[in-house]
Amino acid sequence: MKSRWDNDAAREFTDDPLALRAYSSRLLGADPNLVLHGGGNTSVKLPVENLHGESEEILYVKGSGWDLADIEPPGFAPLRLDAVRRLAGLDSLDDTNMMRSLRAASINPDAPNPSVETITHALIPHQWVDHTHADAIVTISNTPNGDARLLEVLGDEVLIVPYAMPGFILAKLVAELVAGVDWSRLDGMILMNHGVFTFGNTAQESYERMIALVTRAECVVSQHSGSIATAQGDPPDLKQLAELRRAVSTAAGFPQVARVDSSDEAVGFSLRDDVSEIATRGGLTPDHVIHTKPSPMVLSGDVESDIADFQREYKSYFGRYSAADHQILDAAPRWAVWRGVGTVSFGPNAGRASVVADIAGHNITAAQIADSIDAWQPLGPQDLFDVEYWVLEQAKLKRIVSSPPLQGKIALVTGAASGIGAACVCALRSQGAAVACLDIDGGVIEQYLGVDTIGIQCDVTSSADVDVAVDATIGRFGGLDIVISNAGTFPAGMNIEEMDDDTWTKVVDVNMSGHMRVIRAATPYLKFGIDPAIVAIASKNVPAPGPGAAAYSAAKAGLTQLARVAALELGELGVRVNVLHPNAVFDTGIWTEEVLQNRADHYGITVDQYKTNNVLGVEVTSKDVANLAVAMAGPLFSRTTGAQLPVDGGNDRVI
Ligand SMILES: [Zn+2]
Repeated sequence: MKSRWDNDAAREFTDDPLALRAYSSRLLGADPNLVLHGGGNTSVKLPVENLHGESEEILYVKGSGWDLADIEPPGFAPLRLDAVRRLAGLDSLDDTNMMRSLRAASINPDAPNPSVETITHALIPHQWVDHTHADAIVTISNTPNGDARLLEVLGDEVLIVPYAMPGFILAKLVAELVAGVDWSRLDGMILMNHGVFTFGNTAQESYERMIALVTRAECVVSQHSGSIATAQGDPPDLKQLAELRRAVSTAAGFPQVARVDSSDEAVGFSLRDDVSEIATRGGLTPDHVIHTKPSPMVLSGDVESDIADFQREYKSYFGRYSAADHQILDAAPRWAVWRGVGTVSFGPNAGRASVVADIAGHNITAAQIADSIDAWQPLGPQDLFDVEYWVLEQAKLKRIVSSPPLQGKIALVTGAASGIGAACVCALRSQGAAVACLDIDGGVIEQYLGVDTIGIQCDVTSSADVDVAVDATIGRFGGLDIVISNAGTFPAGMNIEEMDDDTWTKVVDVNMSGHMRVIRAATPYLKFGIDPAIVAIASKNVPAPGPGAAAYSAAKAGLTQLARVAALELGELGVRVNVLHPNAVFDTGIWTEEVLQNRADHYGITVDQYKTNNVLGVEVTSKDVANLAVAMAGPLFSRTTGAQLPVDGGNDRVI
């Protein structure tokens, strides 16, 4: 493992040890082979003068909820070192009292909750302490006689600590093991089946010791890299994927986003003869279990029976290892092995699904390496259970998973680059949905590059484009629940007498047939959607057409009729189809200041008067239309289909 230490960068923090602490923590966080997604923790001990002018020894330890990858000085909780150290002398300490005592030791009530490993950090006399879950070291520890093997590889400047439940129990064990130990001969401490601590008198010393230990372990691991199976996969059957995602969502009790890993490694693993056995033996470090559960689901071909089997086994695991005060969590798998396709990870949003995918990827590598070294022997189910159901671990998840109304939903918006479409994307995201953003403008790809969005160039007048875009949506997020069919074109005014065939054909193709293509392509997947809904953006011109807009009005009227038929056809599949009729939405690309001024002059009124020329006398913005469109796709309208709603500030010709 390469050291990322940069003397020039570190020199900037010479006068600010806490900033230096944040810097070297970020170096650890930057390497996914050391820590993943919030794993690991670091600390520094510093003298601080209190209000009475007395110097106190303060332990700055990583706060819960902060990630080493991007931690800053406020991410460290400042605790009185003496008060923390004394806790290790107690015979027992429950979680509530531990967290309460640690918070009480804090000199800043606004600081985050300190890491669950705080007491262990306090026991180590060195000023700088780093803790990671380094893949290479933990992999070797997850083999029979892993402790002896690690001593052989790392040398006896490390102290081996047998597995203990993180938190107070681990701290207590460490306290016993280090009594009388000569710290000056130690570089680090190995926590079996869990991770590694290093320490030093400078930030660099502690960091470099971490890199040195991990590098030695990686030398062993790399000799076994040939044991990692690789194969080229088949693309997943997208309908099966959508069905799987719905089944997992139902089992979890809330919608899930699915992420397929079809890398050669994931496919190779899925094709191992012993995959169902090796995949379910346990995980790399207990830190992962809240994200992945103790084992994945191995698909056999029948999704319903696979889910039922998984749930049965999870419930029996709960029954076997739980105590009276435990309440069972949902029994849905967090990831699945799909033979020949790879792995599929699930999460209540796209970000969480990709966290699970990352962890699953590290786990399948570790399992195969350990099996090649000797045998993959990770932590047993009771220890995994204790961590999965540990209140302090579940608290981490609660912080991550807030629940906006469309959390876990998957949406597709056409015409997403600007105007009403862009506003719909914004509204859907703010409510927690993952969104595929389609537009004829290729700039949409850059515009919506993200974890919970994907931009796809798509011309709705091309059936092939639309089919590919819908498939890409399923491939990326695992299903489809919401379609906002919005792409449209607004031609220059033209009387019928002057109408040319090209204009007519183009306008009808985009504003009517384009919607048909989107609905047609989406329907096979919406069948597997969760409370699936289509919202078509039509126009006030349907109930109240205007002269000079024959093609536009006729096409939007055709769209409305299309949506009504779709509502009838798709009702039995549970898919709702509703129509919005916006009017005079001026904050879109076509309405430049100049065009607005021209129109206002034409009627002899001001631009403001022109914008609010409706019954309520209000301006109607893209955001107003988007909010209503998203509401119609949501639970408020769960009993409404085939409806047409105006969003126009009230139009006297329509009312
Ligand atoms: Zn740890």
